[in-house]
Amino acid sequence: MNEMIRIGNGYDVHALAEGLPLWLGGVRIESPVGCVAHSDGDVPIHALCDALLGALALGDIGKHFPDTSMEFKGIDSKVLLRRTMDLVSEAGYRAGNADITIAMQRPKLAPYILQMRETIAGIMGVTIDAVSVKATTTEKLGFVGRGEGCEAYAVVLLYRCQTA
Ligand code: MG
Repeated sequence: MNEMIRIGNGYDVHALAEGLPLWLGGVRIESPVGCVAHSDGDVPIHALCDALLGALALGDIGKHFPDTSMEFKGIDSKVLLRRTMDLVSEAGYRAGNADITIAMQRPKLAPYILQMRETIAGIMGVTIDAVSVKATTTEKLGFVGRGEGCEAYAVVLLYRCQTA
């Protein structure tokens, strides 16, 4: 890989169930429902990891961190993002910017957006203005609108390090 810049996109979805902790963007969200998952079910971080891996054509999160492995049972997804960033560095790239959209009917995520951006930017080694996190409902349509699940989309730009 010698391109100066590479782009990747990622998508993730998890079912929601009552009584589970809700982690989004590395932040614990006050919520009666949480994601059903092998890991902590952090949907936006999973989408972001897939975008980073996709930018480098390195496969997907399931290939690198299989949900059949006990190593990743209940794992903090921030650890997965950190490991994914290690792969980015090893390939000779750095993160430029990322843009993430979370689709969830409730709870309202606005109070948590800044903390998510700070958390993700810290792990990616970029400034907060390089990480966008947006939240939307789906106007009560579909599985997201019925509160059965939440989904996230991520796009990321990587650029080649001259020193790598
Ligand atoms: Mg996932």
